[in-house]
Amino acid sequence: MPSYIDVHCHIGMTVSRAPVIGQSVGKCLARMASADVIGAIPCPTAGGPQARGVLDSRAQNEVIANACKKYPERFPIGLGIAEVRHEQAGADELDRAMQDDGLVGFVCHPGLSGHSLGGELYAFLEVVAMHNGLCLLHQAGSTANIAAYARRFPSITFIIGHVSMNKPGHLDAINQCAKQENIWYDVAQKPEGADESWDLAHLANNLNKDRIMFGSDLPYYDFRLVQRQIENAKIDDDTKEKIAYKNAVQLIQQFRPQWTPTLTPLTPPQIYSENEMWDANGVRLK
Ligand SMILES: [Zn+2]
Repeated sequence: MPSYIDVHCHIGMTVSRAPVIGQSVGKCLARMASADVIGAIPCPTAGGPQARGVLDSRAQNEVIANACKKYPERFPIGLGIAEVRHEQAGADELDRAMQDDGLVGFVCHPGLSGHSLGGELYAFLEVVAMHNGLCLLHQAGSTANIAAYARRFPSITFIIGHVSMNKPGHLDAINQCAKQENIWYDVAQKPEGADESWDLAHLANNLNKDRIMFGSDLPYYDFRLVQRQIENAKIDDDTKEKIAYKNAVQLIQQFRPQWTPTLTPLTPPQIYSENEMWDANGVRLK
């Protein structure tokens, strides 16, 4: 079994859905340790607590920054969160988190945060562009919007989250984004059973295979299903290793040139039972 680096890993609680769902840093580490994930790029959960507004975003950002400080070998870079309705105050908090806490950008989930991947995100993107940072944008509808961001903000590196959850999204990403060099991709939540018109081999043959990466979308998904798909895909071993972790190393080194992955297994701070880690409602994790 190869090693994996996870570029799409949420820590915290999503409280805007019932039942609430989330994970602590420790549970994240336990899940990583149990499934050969040797490193990750953590970010907050979307739909997190917002009773205190931007102060809650700050608390979420600090959880990620602290995880990166405690485990720099496992969490070499981390992302904050953008809540569009915080407007400039949210952009200012993002700037603080990048400047003072060392986060390298933000995650944005249009569905859970209630916006459209349009101009309303420009103030946040401008902050990230000033730091030459990284944005993880969840695919929501057409990826044309993400391609437009990538052209407008050429100093930002973008990751399209779960680029191949369904065939229309998969084909749309290829059509809209294949030529845009500052867009990378993760294959979180790719369902099993895709035929050759949109399976993993099709993705690797139609997008730049140096920019396709493994993502878990923890705590929402049993990512071991995606690991099995990578291992069984009709692609050569070198490409499998690139998707599993080598491409992620290249991406991370854009921001932390000195960082190299720690290939030895990690030791989680708490021993969770198999049920606690993987007891799932369908493939969704509690
Ligand atoms: Zn996600």
